Amino acid sequence: MTLEKTTTILLTGGAGYIGSHTFAALIDAGYQPVILDNFSNSHPAVLDRLQQLTGQRVVRERGDVLHAGFVAEVLRHYACEAVIHFAGVKAVGESVQQPLKYYSNNVGGLVSLLQAMETSACRSVVFSSSATVYGDPASVPIHEQFPCAPESPYAQTKLMCEDILASLGAADPAWRVGVLRYFNPVGAHPSGLIGENPRGTPNNLMPYVTQVAVGKRARLQVFGDDYLTPDGTGVRDYLHVMDLAEGHVAAVQALLTRHQSFTVNLGTGKGVSVLEVLSAFERASGRRVPFEFAPRRAGDVAQYYADVSLAEAVLGWRATRTLDDMCRDSWRWQQTNPEGYEAGPDIPPRPGLRSRPNEPAQPAAVA
Ligand code: NAD
Ligand code: UDP
Repeated sequence: MTLEKTTTILLTGGAGYIGSHTFAALIDAGYQPVILDNFSNSHPAVLDRLQQLTGQRVVRERGDVLHAGFVAEVLRHYACEAVIHFAGVKAVGESVQQPLKYYSNNVGGLVSLLQAMETSACRSVVFSSSATVYGDPASVPIHEQFPCAPESPYAQTKLMCEDILASLGAADPAWRVGVLRYFNPVGAHPSGLIGENPRGTPNNLMPYVTQVAVGKRARLQVFGDDYLTPDGTGVRDYLHVMDLAEGHVAAVQALLTRHQSFTVNLGTGKGVSVLEVLSAFERASGRRVPFEFAPRRAGDVAQYYADVSLAEAVLGWRATRTLDDMCRDSWRWQQTNPEGYEAGPDIPPRPGLRSRPNEPAQPAAVA
């Protein structure tokens, strides 16, 4: 079965880091993506950048996935055939401090979305899960059949969401669910127009490295030099965000054409150490990145990388971009946007619709 060019896909959290790159990849593949975002962790200026990048009007609605009535209205208005659910909060450390924020937004948000889908005859959903569901694996590479043992409230919310989706699929076979367990997304669109826009001090390695290289921070702290890894520093599976975005296109395509649910890892299958990232980044940017060794970061594991054979078998997808590509594109984004997205115009509410007190906003203007 071939898909109509105009298949419409709702992207909750589509203004965020991974969602915005997936928006661009979906347009490239001939889909019509619709962004639904409350902009709690993204900047509306990304919409102008996406318009510049794709040459197309960016269809978007401002609102919250916790508001099921609003989501259902959007699904029906655009006749969405599938949803990619990116919306959520994602800082592991913050989830330990504020677990209710995570259970409410991530688990409550998914339940609300699924209720909205149920009333709108839309039964295909791709879910942003995370490799953190595996906890500290007994060995690497990590296969999807490994036991899940989440170690933070954040990771726990992802596993709970996977369980909810599995229950739904078991109760009603009309549901098609694609669970994607991401490893470490990094990089940016090669145009330099969109990229990762962390607020405050970055928690993750790559945005920290780029901020040191651009002079915003003095030096990188390398957390731990005594892991049982080839050079003593932590090993991760870094994945170019455009490969990840294309993985979502493959996932949507698989759900809509083959009508089967799946749970797959998305990574490169290669483990790379912190020192290897640093030297690749220095090569790509031509800048020195000062660093010092610091104690291990609480909760970190020595190595983490994916077995990616199932993704290739189920989706016909594999990552093609190299570590050098990831560093080059991260650097281009950082260098051309040292402050991230500039202040842009806010999206006005659609005339005639009222926001109720203490409720997320009603749908904004249909772009
Ligand atoms: P992001 O914060 O850049 O994007 C999330 C978007 O969702 C933001 O634009 C935010 O404004 C929006 N949002 C949050 N709560 C919302 C709500 N209740 N209603 C509407 N919009 C809401 O994050 P990202 O890095 O693009 O991650 C996307 C998804 O992928 C998240 O679910 C995250 O947990 C998951 N994930 C990310 C990584 C990573 O390293 N970036 C790794 C594994 C999994
Ligand atoms: N890391 C580091 N310094 C930093 C941030 C991260 O040395 O400022 C290391 C971290 O210990 C891990 C790797 O870089 O070994 C990737 O960390 P990140 O937070 O990006 O991803 P995660 O640990 O969530 O996989």
